[in-house]
Amino acid sequence: MMIHEINDKIWEHMKSDCSKCSGLCCTALFFSKTDGFPKDKASGQPCINLLKDYRCKIHSQLEKQKMKGCIGYDCFGAGQQVTQVIYQGQTWNDIPNQSTEIFDVFVIVFKLYQIRYYLIEASSLISAQPLKKSIQYLIEENIKMCHYRPDSILSLDLEEYRHRANQSLKQVCKLLQQSIHSESKKVPANFLGGNFRGQDMSGADLSTKLLIAANFEKSLFKGTIFLGADTRDTNFSDADLSEAVFLTQGQVNAAKGNRNTKLPYQLDYPPTWK
Ligand code: SF4
Repeated sequence: MMIHEINDKIWEHMKSDCSKCSGLCCTALFFSKTDGFPKDKASGQPCINLLKDYRCKIHSQLEKQKMKGCIGYDCFGAGQQVTQVIYQGQTWNDIPNQSTEIFDVFVIVFKLYQIRYYLIEASSLISAQPLKKSIQYLIEENIKMCHYRPDSILSLDLEEYRHRANQSLKQVCKLLQQSIHSESKKVPANFLGGNFRGQDMSGADLSTKLLIAANFEKSLFKGTIFLGADTRDTNFSDADLSEAVFLTQGQVNAAKGNRNTKLPYQLDYPPTWK
């Protein structure tokens, strides 16, 4: 099997497939109107727009109705894993006495999938041992945990696992920055709404930065780290993100861009990018 075929298979598994889920994100999670969802709602309560067959009643109008929270959300494929594998096709509607358990399991599996996404990318970026081996071990451990029975998933020590994964990811970030620049590129303290059009952001660490509504049209992001950055309404039109690191589908969905924006291999163009 060719390398790109292996990669295709790995990344395909990390893509959300709502047709194999039971509207878990639209039901299990708490969300609020101010974050771009239809209405404030408690966790475990189905969204007012969720249909009986788990499709969204306003799916084609999400952009028009400014449902930015819905557009920006991505479960990394956790929803179909919980519905099809862990509960073998049974949904919270089929077994209502277990609905709370299903929602709690989804929240944990989502967090595990999010960590796995970063680990898979980290593993593909580095060759240094023993770090690569320890990341691959963390991925295997993650896959096993996501196949556990619900009671075992609920009793996982997620924080302990997350801590180990974070340690490895920090080392990867450090190595990446060393390979691009001798020291970390200094980045502005504040990006909110700023104009950075045409800037070379290569090698910058934008982890957890608030990039909301910043303008990065025609900018370059070679080896730029996006771990946990807030990209709501960030403008990436005509920008080159093809070698951006730890950029997720949710971050891309929440941002603005166009068909000239170059994206990393594993990410899809949001339907809102024309
Ligand atoms: S509006 Fe649609 S996508 Fe958004 S939470 Fe409700 S059902 Fe889900």
